[in-house]
Amino acid sequence: MLYTLRGMVPDWASIVVSNMLLAGTFAMALGAVSQFRGQAMPWARMLVPVAAMTLLFALFIDDYRARIIVAGVLAPVQLGMVLWVLWRPQPPAQLRGAWLFSVGLGLQFALLAVRGMLAALDAIPLDGLMHGSPMQSFVFMAAFVVVILTSLGFILMAKDRAEADNRYFAVHDELTGAANRRALTQTLDRDVARAVRAGEPYALMMLDIDHFKVVNDSYGHHAGDQVLRHVVAVLRERIRAQDLVGRYGGEEFMLLLPNTTLSGGAALAETLREVMEQTPCMHEGRSIAVTVSIGVCGAYLENASNWDYLIQAADQALYRAKAAGRNRVECADLPRRAYA
Ligand code: GH3
Ligand code: MG
Ligand code: MG
Repeated sequence: MLYTLRGMVPDWASIVVSNMLLAGTFAMALGAVSQFRGQAMPWARMLVPVAAMTLLFALFIDDYRARIIVAGVLAPVQLGMVLWVLWRPQPPAQLRGAWLFSVGLGLQFALLAVRGMLAALDAIPLDGLMHGSPMQSFVFMAAFVVVILTSLGFILMAKDRAEADNRYFAVHDELTGAANRRALTQTLDRDVARAVRAGEPYALMMLDIDHFKVVNDSYGHHAGDQVLRHVVAVLRERIRAQDLVGRYGGEEFMLLLPNTTLSGGAALAETLREVMEQTPCMHEGRSIAVTVSIGVCGAYLENASNWDYLIQAADQALYRAKAAGRNRVECADLPRRAYA
């Protein structure tokens, strides 16, 4: 608008303000990408180039060539910073959007830099902004393409991230990062069918933190949350790649162990119980003792569609472990032929 009103509005508006706004756009792109990458707003790197652009354009209000050179240096510096934040130190996970965004910014970068360089070398006619020159038309036209590419790219990045988050939280517990109940059920469906087909044993563990209420009551809920994360971290360190640890509810966890016999599961449970007892949870400089009770069940399954009784059996074993004084492992009492 301000460019086209050249001659109808004062020069400081069409020259200085318009380029201040343009530099402000690039500064906001830097702010947006920084936020997208989870970094603090880089206020100095956003505002200094805008101030510099404004001052230098005011200074060179009568020198078209100088202004083109200034824009040819400052804008690429701004755009370079945006690209840097987007790709460093690690490339973003949303690659297709990031590429589209980068192609848009790169195009702007190249155009302004090349135009500035040509102006500095006196290689293009500089008879004023509004006199149609191939270079000038190209720069104006490209500006629209750039806006479309970068906007689309950024929208794609945001959308891809939202979808990845949705996929993640559909199967993970938000607090601990363990599998959620839905993922446990899906995995059980798949695992049990495979175990039946292959004639392999399958083991399942229910694990409950002992006196967790006391942790919450005496250290606070934040400490309680930290203990939950701690328990998952300790479990994850000890299980195999094919095993799954999930949060079944509150402070109760389920472990799914494919191709594992009852005695194998019981041995692992005893190890986990022991490690948990020996590894206190650190929270705000305090050490919180954590013990768990575990119910284990393992079987050669006959019917792929019915795994409910596995959970029931492990749950009953867990109940017995609690009743027998906690910090214990108990094995399920399945019918003899089901034992693995
Ligand atoms: P027991 O040894 O018999 O298992 O005793 P307990 O205190 O661990 O068992 P109880 O089931 O009575 O208490 C569970 C507590 O877990 C109650 C609830 O406030 C707490 N809890 C459940 N989910 C969360 C959570 O996400 N964060 C925190 N901090 N506490 C939770
Ligand atoms: Mg408990
Ligand atoms: Mg409980």
